[in-house]
Order: sequence, then C-alpha cells, then structure tokens
Amino acid sequence: MSPLETKTSPLAAPITSLWGVGAERATQLARLDLHTVEDLLLHRPRRYEDRRHFRAIAELTRDEAATARGTIVAQGLKRFRGGSKSVFQFVLDDGTARLHCRWWNLPFMEKYFAVGDEVFVFGKLVETKPRTMDHPETEVIEGGEESFIHINRIAPIYPLTEGLPQRWLRGLIWRTLGKFESQIAEPKPTPDLKAFPARANAVRMIHFPEELTDVEIARRRLALDEFVELQFQIQSRRKKFEANTKALPCGGNNQLMKPFLARLGFKLTNAQTKVLREIRADMDGAHPMRRLLQGDVGSGKTVVAACTALMALEGGFNAALMAPTEILAEQHFRNFQKWFEPLGVKVELQTGSRKTVDSREPIVESRSRRLPSTLDSRPSTLFVGTHALFTSGFDLPKLGLVIIDEQHKFGVAQREQLVRKGNYPHLLVMTATPIPRTLGLTLYGDLDVSVVDELPAGRGRVKTFVRAADKLPKVWEFIREKVAGGRQAYVVYPRVEEQDTANDIKAVTKELENVRRSLAPFRVGLLHGRLKSGEKEEVMTAFRASQIQALVATALIEVGLDVPNATVMLVENAERFGLAQLHQLRGRIGRGAHESFCILISGAKTDAARERLRVLEETTDGFRIAEADLKLRGPGELLGQRQSGLPRFRFGDLLHDLDLIRRARELAARTLDGSGKNI
Ligand code: ADP
Ligand code: MG
Repeated sequence: MSPLETKTSPLAAPITSLWGVGAERATQLARLDLHTVEDLLLHRPRRYEDRRHFRAIAELTRDEAATARGTIVAQGLKRFRGGSKSVFQFVLDDGTARLHCRWWNLPFMEKYFAVGDEVFVFGKLVETKPRTMDHPETEVIEGGEESFIHINRIAPIYPLTEGLPQRWLRGLIWRTLGKFESQIAEPKPTPDLKAFPARANAVRMIHFPEELTDVEIARRRLALDEFVELQFQIQSRRKKFEANTKALPCGGNNQLMKPFLARLGFKLTNAQTKVLREIRADMDGAHPMRRLLQGDVGSGKTVVAACTALMALEGGFNAALMAPTEILAEQHFRNFQKWFEPLGVKVELQTGSRKTVDSREPIVESRSRRLPSTLDSRPSTLFVGTHALFTSGFDLPKLGLVIIDEQHKFGVAQREQLVRKGNYPHLLVMTATPIPRTLGLTLYGDLDVSVVDELPAGRGRVKTFVRAADKLPKVWEFIREKVAGGRQAYVVYPRVEEQDTANDIKAVTKELENVRRSLAPFRVGLLHGRLKSGEKEEVMTAFRASQIQALVATALIEVGLDVPNATVMLVENAERFGLAQLHQLRGRIGRGAHESFCILISGAKTDAARERLRVLEETTDGFRIAEADLKLRGPGELLGQRQSGLPRFRFGDLLHDLDLIRRARELAARTLDGSGKNI
C-alpha cells in the first residue's frame, strides 16, 4: 500500500477480496508482488498492442516485432529423438497469407489451441519461406460479453507469471478499475492538475489508453506521485528531525586544528577549505549536521574528515569514523594515529575481528564489548572501525560526530540506524561515487551536499589503456619494466558479489602463480576478502613498505587504499566491472608524483563491451563516467546493487525524470512549509 493512501482506503483491501480471485490466483499474483487492490491497479503493462489495426501476415518482415490476427487452419505436435524433443506448430491464416507458429519442447501447448480458433500472435519472423515465428506471444480471441476489453482497442500486455493468463489478468484489471476508479483519490500534496491528468485518469490511461501517446502522459503523472511520496517522506523526516534535535556545539576553537594543519606537510586545496567552511557552519549550527561529502577518488576527503573530527574533539566530544572494510579501517587508524596522537588525541580501532583499547599497546583479540569505564576522564578520542563500531553493542560515550567513509557501501537504512545511536551527533557521509544529479536528489534529499571538486596539485597523471587478452605478454613486459624501476603494481581480478566468493578466491589464487612467474624475481602478495584480518594486515604492511612489489587482489582494494608508490594497475576481465567501479579501482594509482598506468584487459568478445571501456581511456572525470554507467547499467548497479537503498519505482525513471524529481522536491517543500505542523 502506498503511504499516500490512508490505511482505511478501499484500495488497501487484499486482492483476494476481488471477485474471482481465489487462493490459487492470489498465490500467482503474489509472485508478481501484487497483494492489494492498489497493487493491482498499479501493475504496469510491459507493452501495448494496438489491436485496432493489424499488419497483414503477407506484410510481416523479419526485423520487426508485430502483431497479427488470424484463424488457426492446421495444427500438430511432432516428436523426435525418441520422443525426448518435440515441436508444436499451428498455421494461422488471415486471408493475406499463412503464418507458421512454432514452440520447441513445449508439447503441452497443444491443448491450448484448436483448429478454428481466432488468435493474436506477437513476434518476429525467423523465416520467410514459409513465414514462421518461434515462440510468439499468443492470445486466443473469444467472443462473449467482455471481448471488447481485449480486441478493437489498444490492449495492455502485462508481466505474467506461470499459470496466469494475460486475458484473465486484463479482465480482472478492467473490472477492478470499473469498481474502484472513483475511489482513487488525489494524494496530498497534489500536483498541479492543469499540468497533469488526475490520478484516477492516469491509472485508467496506463491500462487502457485511447491513444498510444496517452501512455507516457499517464506514466509521468504516476511517476510524479512516486517521487512526491518519497520527497515528502524525506523532507518531513528532516523537518521533524530539526524540530526535535539540538546540535552539540562543535564549532571548534582551532586549538587542535592549527597544529594539525601546520604539521600536515601540504596546504589544503581551495576545494577542501571551501568544504570545511560549510562543515564548520553546520557543526556550529542549531541542528545536527547531516552532510554528504562528495569528491572524486584522490580529492583528499580523508583530510577533510580529520579536520571535521578535530572540530568535535575541540568541543570536548569524541568522534567516530566508520569504514566499509577492515583494511580501510586499519589504514585510517594508522593515518589518524600518526596525525592525532602528537596532538594528545587518542585513536582507537574497533573492527569485527579485533580492537585496540590503547593504541600504543599491541593489537589484541578481545571479546570484551565494553570500553573501559574510565574513558570519560580521558582526553577526547577518535574511534575508528567498521560497522562493528555500531553493531557490537558497546557505547561510544560523548559522541559528537559520526563520519561514514565510502557510504555507498552502506545502505540508507544502516545510516539511519547509526545516527540514532548517539545523542544526535553530527553526521558526515563521504562518498567517491560521483552521483549524477537525479540520483542525488532522490537518494540524498535529506542530506546537504558539499563537493570537493579539485584534486591536489602535483599528482602524476593516470593513463588508461584498454587491451585485448592476446596483448598480455607485452603488458607484462611493461609492468616488469615499471617494477624494475622501483614502482609497485596492483593486479585485479573481478569479483561478482559484494563479498568474495569461494570461486573468486580460487581464481585469484590460481592467478597468483602466473603473476609470480611473470614478475619473478620480484615479490608478489595476495589480498582477498577471505583472508584473516591479521593476514590482510601483514600483506598490506609489506606492500606499503615496498617489500612486496605487486599485489594480486580481488576488487576488494577498490575502496580507499592509499599507497602512492603503486603506479601500475592491471585489471583482468575488466568488462565484468561497472565503469564507476573501474574508476574507483583506478583511483588507487596516480596518488604520487610518478606517472601512472591503468591497463584494462577486456576478455569481452563483443566490440560493444570493449567500446564501453573506452570511456575510461577518454576521461578521468568521475561524473561523466557515472553518467555513462547509469545509462548503461541502471542505478542499482552504479550504487552497489540492493544496498543502494533506492526504492523500487514502478513508473519513475531515474535517468529521464529529472524534471519530475525537481517538481516533486518543490511540491513537498512547499507543502511542508505551509503545513509543517501536522506531519
Ligand atoms: P580520497 O578523497 O579518495 O579519500 P584521500 O583522502 O585518500 O583521497 O587522499 C589522497 C591522497 O592525497 C592522500 O595521500 C592524501 O594525503 C593526499 N592529499 C590530500 N589532500 C592533499 C592536499 N591538499 N595536497 C596534497 N596532497 C593531499
Ligand atoms: Mg577515501
């Protein structure tokens, strides 16, 4: 049920309350995620058939999917290979020509058709002599009272599930519309009805449009409602939050910041300074900060995080920094220790597998979940960790600030959960995913956004090359040369899931031997998600210290690793990655003064797949790459699958509906300003 409808709305009634929907049909409909009357009314046709005009069978062409209408004049089932294979076939005649329709290995099709039946078929010709379609979509035309629902009109073709006939579902939706149309209310806030059809009209039009152009008009109206609903939720949550919270005073007094910046060894970029000004205004403001820090890989978000932490620490509060992986948490731990301990700030590490209570002590395994109770009297502390920081159930006392690094690895729900943990600490979310504008407005409507839109000067450039696998010997020669010159290399193998799977591990372990052979006598290490954290740490330490010259890894290294002497990256089967992910991976090199080289080996057979990778040869602009990725792969992929926290839109299209998303934002904002109290 849409939250826009009240609980008592008749549309919230279960689908089984409809005449003709028994237990079996209900199970089938549930497979399509249709549970209520409203779900059914919003079941979106996947295409439409204009059954007012038909293509004559004589005019059907090979390349074009089309609908024909005719009478079955012959049919039969043939079995072969001793009965294990079969083909069912009927011959359709429409007066202009005959059309053969075949189904391979679906013998039961035979019982659905009889000579004399009138049917629609939809498909493409696979042969022209005789005219033949394989596995076309079909619908038998029946006479009777309701036949007008299905013929002589533009008919909706719905997504189906096994056992559910198109015709039956169309009839059900038709009758349900008739019964409930008058009860489809305008949601609040209501869009401008001069610019959009009424919602009830839009629902009718999406199922039974009078003209095909009506479909898009209706879709936009229903998409707008989805966006408004989401924006309204996001913005009212934000409003409520602001009404109920008071910010902890974390404006800072520069006591720690000054010596920190003095010792840093480089000057902040203008972009970093600009962003820190925005952050300080928040940290000093009336409401807790809720800010997204966007910046391409290598733009220096970690230093911004450090400065933000110092503001909280100066205010006498503790701060927490959460990273998506243990390796990254340990890297941050190391950095912040180096930066903060000279300032008298304690830095503590807490990951799933280990924690340090006192960072000067060796790292110890500990099952204890409570930090020492004397902590309050200690100097302010920065806690660094993975999500274990928040899930392991220990308190982070006097928490003034939570920083989440590489947020796209965490779901939105997790983020919410974290923020509720403390007494409304300030929140800074950092991401290197260059989120295109539509997505940003949709996903992060409740966060303010700062962008670090400048890279530190003096970086070596990264050159990118896409190569076919047969060029590998030359590529290895090149890598050897670089390694012999004192540089280091990453060799990356794709990982399909968020976690390394056993197969991935097998693949990289096998490859390790090849890489060792290719680079002998240089030393090669292995890094993947299934290593124990002590082992990972050992490998990383050796790599950082240049004791290992090359690192064979799964895409685990994608996030955040910072080893400036590593200037070569080889990615195998690069076509299996998203462009944005490859851009992230590539961000691991080009971090020092030396020129860097990223070589993408494409195992793809098709030119299209290789062409896609060329975007990376052409640009290092993360936003352009993300746009390209969004077009090619859709938003879920770009943001990391289901974890994206994106709601499922039935009608909304994140690629093309930017204007609707804007309207929705404005509408929600206007409504909330006018009547903010009654939310
Ligand atoms: P990311 O935004 O990808 O997290 P990092 O914070 O890891 O980037 O920074 C990348 C590298 O740039 C680090 O080695 C960091 O020390 C360095 N760096 C950050 N800011 C500056 C700066 N203003 N000038 C020079 N180097 C910088
Ligand atoms: Mg980073």
